[in-house]
Amino acid sequence: MTTTIAESLFDTMQSTRRHLHRHPELSFQEFETSTFIQQRLTSLGIPFRVVATTGVVAHIGHGERCVALRADIDALPITEETGLPYASEHPGVMHACGHDTHTTMLLAAAEILKAQEDSLGGVVKLLFQPGEEKTPGGASLMIAEGALTDPVPEMIFGQHINPDATAGEVSFVSGPMMAAADELYWTIKGYGAHAAQPHLGKDPILAAAGLIQHLQTLITKQRNPLHAGVLTVTSIHGGHATNVIPEVVEMKGTLRAFDQAWREQAWTYLEEQTAAYCALYGCEGRLEISKGYPPLVNHPEATVFARSIAEQLLGSGSVSEFEPKMWAEDFAYYSQQMPACFWMLGGRPSSQTTMPGLHHPRFAPEERAMISGAALLAEVAIRALQR
Ligand SMILES: [Zn+2]
Ligand SMILES: [Zn+2]
Repeated sequence: MTTTIAESLFDTMQSTRRHLHRHPELSFQEFETSTFIQQRLTSLGIPFRVVATTGVVAHIGHGERCVALRADIDALPITEETGLPYASEHPGVMHACGHDTHTTMLLAAAEILKAQEDSLGGVVKLLFQPGEEKTPGGASLMIAEGALTDPVPEMIFGQHINPDATAGEVSFVSGPMMAAADELYWTIKGYGAHAAQPHLGKDPILAAAGLIQHLQTLITKQRNPLHAGVLTVTSIHGGHATNVIPEVVEMKGTLRAFDQAWREQAWTYLEEQTAAYCALYGCEGRLEISKGYPPLVNHPEATVFARSIAEQLLGSGSVSEFEPKMWAEDFAYYSQQMPACFWMLGGRPSSQTTMPGLHHPRFAPEERAMISGAALLAEVAIRALQR
């Protein structure tokens, strides 16, 4: 059983994870991490190639058929506050999204798979992917550099540690799982004046205040209420004194959606309404949209398959339904290419009912969760090639 083997690898996983946790690196700067992965693969006798500068693609097994497993390897610009003995040694950088555990579990799965290489019945492709946390996303760069060719996988699987579930509990959802996410940057240009002479200026603050309210019509009046959508303005900046009408207001925000057609309509609506609404105030409103990841959609067949393996391996009591979230995840790019399933692996210590969430400076998942995650990755790959 892969769970027994994974259990025996726990000490190695713990020290691997703690090494990675001590040495987090920001998106697309994962040089030490990449070298560490390459050294480990070399010591396991697993051939690999480097793509997208810090990404690593490794192959285990032989034959025509291929399935892929993916782990993201980057960390976040967060100052760690866990106080753990193996806390980050890189100031201002932290593995606060658990990608250190993802990388560790894929390395452990690699060790399990390598030991049974000759009976695999195909190739398992391992994708150690940089830059999940930053657009354009390491997945799109890996794909552009041919990570999914030679051989082409027929299915791909990935996982994310989940602070909302008990350690080792695995959750699945078929269909849309995470949203498309776009970054929004507004510039509202008015005309500066003495605050006591508003009639001589064009006030971008007043325009911005109204615009924020008005743009919610995207959600309330321009969207089928049965389809999820989010528009949130997260930053507004303008002016510096009590007696000056400023020239410019800048705002930032996010647009989230599952439906690609509506997402594209929303881009047009937000651009047009920004310009038209600001014009009512004599201001010039512009919106720049930095288009982010597409929605992550789990393939029904791949999800039923992975879930059934999880139930056999971990017991049905450890498997649950995941409620989709409007987070974003660049595994979505793989899900556009082939049948894909991304699952959530519970990471909350069983002694706790809550824990600090993803991207929190005190995020600290239960390390033993990695036993289930590594075993499931390996087992899913083995069984997918036996189908
Ligand atoms: Zn994250
Ligand atoms: Zn993450």
